[in-house]
Amino acid sequence: MIEISNLTFDYPGHRALDDVSLTVQSGSVTALVGPNGAGKTTLMRCIAGLETPLSGSILVNGIDVNEKPREVHRLMGYLSDFFGLYQDLTVGQCLEYAAESQGLPSTVVHDAIMLTARQLELSDRLQQVSGSLSRGQRQRLAIGQAIIHGPKVLLLDEPASGLDPEARANLASLFRHLQTIGMTLLVSSHILAELDEYSTHILSLRNGRVLENRALSGSYPAISHRRIRLKLSLADLRLADWLGNRPEAILIKADEKDAEFDFHGDLTAQSKLLRELIAASFQVTSFSEQKENLQQSYLQSVSTMPEPKYS
Ligand code: ATP
Repeated sequence: MIEISNLTFDYPGHRALDDVSLTVQSGSVTALVGPNGAGKTTLMRCIAGLETPLSGSILVNGIDVNEKPREVHRLMGYLSDFFGLYQDLTVGQCLEYAAESQGLPSTVVHDAIMLTARQLELSDRLQQVSGSLSRGQRQRLAIGQAIIHGPKVLLLDEPASGLDPEARANLASLFRHLQTIGMTLLVSSHILAELDEYSTHILSLRNGRVLENRALSGSYPAISHRRIRLKLSLADLRLADWLGNRPEAILIKADEKDAEFDFHGDLTAQSKLLRELIAASFQVTSFSEQKENLQQSYLQSVSTMPEPKYS
């Protein structure tokens, strides 16, 4: 959905993005992570066509952002890290303004406002002026403005900053919902535990360079044959031998309490494996997919990768 090739962006006297190349898969939720000043906001602004890079290209759904920014804007929603709302407009008017700015035909504007307000749980606030909303409600309204035209791609820069735990949880479920209806999301945040709840991919930047860009294991439900890690409680020591005869399973660790192994197979293959484990008299009490921990992976990648070098 997003394809970036050799993107370099300079602020006066400072190179913020240095030869960045990456792809973002359609239907994914990519966690954009990296330390302060890594270039996350700059990357998002370039993808949104708000900055002109020194060199390189950005394609969104096959359209070049720098050549046809207006076409790309129709496909895209963008929530900036410091967004503004028109304080004196009601929630309904803010959404109407966003819908009209995005060029939605007037015949569909009313329905789009109602749908978006429902998705963001703002239906009972349509008559309230935005200046009197709480921080979480303002954040939801800003996201509503970004999605009212049904974009294919949604860029969210620190969408949960300042939100309470309940509002963050609601936001996480909204992002999962947007993914299920086919949207591709790129979300930047410093709160990795939160990104962990809904991200399928990690894109990590440091000093304007890509450190890592890949799928998180155990997180991409649409793929039928994938490598996943299963944890099996109450494993016994026969398990290593038993798994040794199965090329689709690679044992990671096992003791008398539990075991973990990588398994290449779809859900049918997993359920067959579970049946066979039970038939072989293993006392299985829990059999579940282990999702990769984003925070651990990020800290590990930062600690094992060398500092990028500049020429
Ligand atoms: P944070 O996590 O703190 O939001 P970030 O990863 O989003 O950081 P950017 O805001 O993209 O980082 O900034 C990347 C680098 O570019 C930083 O070193 C920053 O100081 C610099 N920078 C950003 N905006 C400007 C500007 N307008 N003029 C000059 N330098 C800038």
